[in-house]
Amino acid sequence: MKNYIAYCGLDCESCEARIATIHNNDALREKVARLWSELNGVEITPEMINCVGCRIDGVKTPYCESLCPIRQCALGKAWRPAEAAAGWSAVKSWPRSLGTMPRL
Ligand code: SF4
Repeated sequence: MKNYIAYCGLDCESCEARIATIHNNDALREKVARLWSELNGVEITPEMINCVGCRIDGVKTPYCESLCPIRQCALGKAWRPAEAAAGWSAVKSWPRSLGTMPRL
């Protein structure tokens, strides 16, 4: 499996969140945060847009880090949504934005 293919099948290499992170591009972070906020009906700030990729060691978006059930399952962790979302319940619906990310 290619390292930049997320456990869910997304192509992290083409994800604008990752591109913004790799190039430390704040304008792109703002664009992605605005788009994902609109798509999910929750506030996602540019500061949340930091991710090097699902299966790459390093920073992740809060959703991909601890809320995505596919990633948690793949990592062999029991997924506890209530605990995972504690303090950040606004992103429970974030997966809707995944449709904007590139797939293979
Ligand atoms: S936000 Fe998700 S899809 Fe984008 S690089 Fe991070 S893990 Fe991959």
